[in-house]
Amino acid sequence: MSATKFQEIGGILRTYQRFAILGHVRPDGDALGSQLALALSLQTLGKEVRVWNEDGMLEKYSFLPRAELLTKPPSTPEDFDVAIALDTAIQNRLGNTLAAIRSAKVWVNIDHHLSNPGYGDVVYVDTSAPATAEIIFRLIKSEGLPLDRDIAENLYAAISTDTGSFQYPKTNANTFEIAAELIRTGLDVGRLSQQLYENYPRRRLELLRELLRTMRFQQEGRVASFSLALKAAAELSVLPEDNEGLIDHLRSIRGVIVAVFFEELSDGKVRVSMRSKTEAVDVCAICQKFGGGGHTLAAGARVRGTLREVEERVLAEVCAKVESLKGTLDRTWRFNA
Ligand code: 5GP
Ligand code: MN
Repeated sequence: MSATKFQEIGGILRTYQRFAILGHVRPDGDALGSQLALALSLQTLGKEVRVWNEDGMLEKYSFLPRAELLTKPPSTPEDFDVAIALDTAIQNRLGNTLAAIRSAKVWVNIDHHLSNPGYGDVVYVDTSAPATAEIIFRLIKSEGLPLDRDIAENLYAAISTDTGSFQYPKTNANTFEIAAELIRTGLDVGRLSQQLYENYPRRRLELLRELLRTMRFQQEGRVASFSLALKAAAELSVLPEDNEGLIDHLRSIRGVIVAVFFEELSDGKVRVSMRSKTEAVDVCAICQKFGGGGHTLAAGARVRGTLREVEERVLAEVCAKVESLKGTLDRTWRFNA
C-alpha cells in the first residue's frame, strides 16, 4: 500500500516542474525540516520550488541548511503544477499560504496527524510515523530521490524535535535506523543537537519562570497546567516560537498524566496545547471538542474566550476525563506509582 502510494507521489514529483511546499501556521521543527528537505531534493532534480508558511523561517531554526528558502508567501498569488501540504492536520492550518496558490493541478497531503481528514488529491497520512520527516525520508528512499547531507540535517532536526529527542512512544527501531542512515551522510549529531537544544535566547527561560509562577495542579496532581497572558508575554518580549517545548516541563513531573498550556492570543482566542502520557487519555479527542486536533498524546486548539474562561472550560473537560478513569489509570499507567 505505502509502496504504491509512494510510486504515485514519486511519479508526480518527476512529471511536474513547478512546486509549492507548504507547512502549518506556528511551525515546528518537523514542519520546517520536512519542507526544506523535500524542497532541496526537488531542487536537485531541477525543479522550481517555493517553500512557504505563514510565519516564515523562525529565528531558532535559521541554522537549518538552506533555511533561506523558507519564506512567508507573497501577496500576489502564483500558479503551480503541484501544491504539497506537509505536517498539516487540516487545510486551514496552512494559514495565509493558501491564498498565495492561485492554481495547482494536483494537491498532495503528506502527514502523520490522527485528525487529518485526508484533504487533497493524493493523500499519504501515516499516523504511526513519529514525524512527517520520517515519511519524507521513506519517500526519498523508495523513489530514489536525491539525499545529501543538507537534506539529511533537515530531516534529522525534524525527527529529533518531533520525537522529543527520540523519547516519545512512537519512536521505534525504524526511527533509529533512519537516524543512523542520516548520520552516515556525514552530519554532526553533537553540533546539530547543540543548535537545537543549547542555543535558546535567555528570554525563553525567563518565559519559563513566568509560566512556572502560574503552575497549578488538579486531580491529585494528575493534571498540571500553566498559562501565559498577553501582558506578561509583552513584558518579556517573547516571540511565539519561544514556548515550543516548555509544556514538557509539566509532563516531566511524576504523577502528571495530562499537561495543558494556555496562551492568550491577540485575536480574542486562547491557544491550548495539551500532552498526555497515556492513550487512555486521548487529548486529540478532547481538543477536537474545542475545534482543534492533533495526535492522541499531543494535541491543540484555538478557543475563543478570555484566558480565564478558556482555562476553566478546557480544564473541566480534562478533569472529567481523568476523573472517569480513576482506578483504571493506576493499574494501567505504570509510572503512576
Ligand atoms: P502544539 O501543542 O505543539 O502546538 O501542537 C501539538 C499537536 O497538536 C501538533 O501536532 C499540532 O498539529 C496539533 N495542533 C495544535 N494546535 C492545533 C489546532 O489549533 N488545530 C488542530 N487541528 N491541531 C492543532
Ligand atoms: Mn509533526
